[in-house]
Amino acid sequence: MVFTLSDPGDQERENGGVSFRRERSQMVAALRRQGISDERVLAVMGRLPRQRFVAEPYRQLAYGDHPLPIEAGQTISQPYIVALMTEALSPQPQDRILEIGTGSGYQTAILAELAGEVYSVEREPQLTAAAKRHLRELRYDNVHFHLGDGTLGWRRFAPYDGIIATGSLPYPGRSLCGQLHDPGRMVLPLGNHQLQRLTLLQLRADCWSTERICYCSFLPLIGEEGWPEKEPENRA
Ligand code: SAH
Repeated sequence: MVFTLSDPGDQERENGGVSFRRERSQMVAALRRQGISDERVLAVMGRLPRQRFVAEPYRQLAYGDHPLPIEAGQTISQPYIVALMTEALSPQPQDRILEIGTGSGYQTAILAELAGEVYSVEREPQLTAAAKRHLRELRYDNVHFHLGDGTLGWRRFAPYDGIIATGSLPYPGRSLCGQLHDPGRMVLPLGNHQLQRLTLLQLRADCWSTERICYCSFLPLIGEEGWPEKEPENRA
């Protein structure tokens, strides 16, 4: 954990001198109304400069509760779902967390605040590069990036106390299940391309339990234990 900007407002007067402090506190108030209650999650989201993780034209929209486009045709997830997933994962200060789908790096930064070490895998080189840059600027030194197929996890540093996928999966793959520490928690959007159920899978004393949190709609994780690169053509 390293993100200790004493006054983020002062350091973020980019975008024509605008501080997003008010937008951030409105976002946190909205998250509370929507039922997010983990104070650690709310505190981190209340001070992390989300606008830095979106492209210039979208900065003013950064705190609205919707996804926004990032490079490579991907999206930064909406704040509510980020908060909900983080709350479900419940990362603790000593935990080692595996994240699949670095994307913008916003969720990565939240995990870096709450956990001990974060291992984040992304398949798009330009997204890894941008996320690395943003997290370096914010002075995180507990995040490790890997370019590759995250549906296979990141065997080198397994097992992980928590695993989170920020793209959809058809099923909980062997690799991810095999790389979870016992006890451990895994938060995955499981379903089809259109609709998934955000699912918390817990491993304790060799036993799995499953809790379905809500319906959600994520972009697909494309990989060996995820979705194929191209959908099979519909045949008449
Ligand atoms: N948490 C991110 C969400 C990004 S969207 C954010 O809020 O910014 C999902 C991400 O998963 C995309 O960046 C996409 O490129 C990535 N992805 C898709 N398939 C992947 C795979 N097999 N391994 C790792 N990342 C993958």
